[in-house]
Amino acid sequence: MRPTVFYHESSLRHDTGSHPETAARVERILDHLHSASGGLDLRSPRAASPEDVGRVHTETHIARIRDVAHAGGGHLDADTVVSPDSYTAALYAAGATLSAIDAVLAGDAPAAFALVRPPGHHARAGVAMGFCLFNNVAIGARYLVEEKGLSRVAIVDWDVHHGNGTQETFYRDGKVFYLSLHRHPFYPGTGAADERGAESGAGTTLNVPLPATTSSEEYRRIFGEAMGEVADFRPEFVLISAGFDAYREDPIAGLNLDIDDYGDLAARVRVACSEARGIVSSLEGGYNLEALPKCVAAHLDGLDE
Ligand SMILES: [Zn+2]
Repeated sequence: MRPTVFYHESSLRHDTGSHPETAARVERILDHLHSASGGLDLRSPRAASPEDVGRVHTETHIARIRDVAHAGGGHLDADTVVSPDSYTAALYAAGATLSAIDAVLAGDAPAAFALVRPPGHHARAGVAMGFCLFNNVAIGARYLVEEKGLSRVAIVDWDVHHGNGTQETFYRDGKVFYLSLHRHPFYPGTGAADERGAESGAGTTLNVPLPATTSSEEYRRIFGEAMGEVADFRPEFVLISAGFDAYREDPIAGLNLDIDDYGDLAARVRVACSEARGIVSSLEGGYNLEALPKCVAAHLDGLDE
């Protein structure tokens, strides 16, 4: 059974202008999944409530995104844009991750994918950055812990950039294990191997910085080893920050992954964490409009048991 896909049309109305993180990304993915064999279980998510978002972000931050959107939009930093519909889109992006979690926990879906924008993993508690407004996956992890009562959640982040916002959110939180493989040195600059968490979270952050020359074979091997450490944490649920910008021909980033690698990575997560109650992945980066839909399809095939 193909993973269920949660999608809301507001994701197309987050208008970034001339920008690599564009609505065409989601449109191309939808078109490709609709045309693929095996059918598509596409569902509409709920919007995240301010309470959901507030488990990660400050009230001031949430109000700023809302107010800038309602005032007609603007730039929050050099590359992070808010348009009039961006607040709505951001609530549905977080909400899609929550609806996907609900469906998987309820047994309605074996695994689920939140096809969302804006992406999330750079967003910090009080700061939007790197195209990200609200941290969708972090909001999902907090929901699993605080609303669903789980005590061990893993976040696996294979976006080519380090998820600084996610790391910071859970750095002292022993209930959420954060794994990131990323190009380094690279934007946003964080994610050194010696950043391993602190206090109750000591040992529950695992960064694997990689040089730009890392081959697909090396990446798979290193990812497999890192997943062993995630499995040792015995996560009850796994969230994937699924960015596809480590693809070899990504226009703004690029490591050396190929389309098939995304199926392999998903399968490794599924096998390593077979005791978990479910896996939900949420779209982060990935800017090659030709390859991105195929990378997503390969990823969903890899999640499929
Ligand atoms: Zn990225």
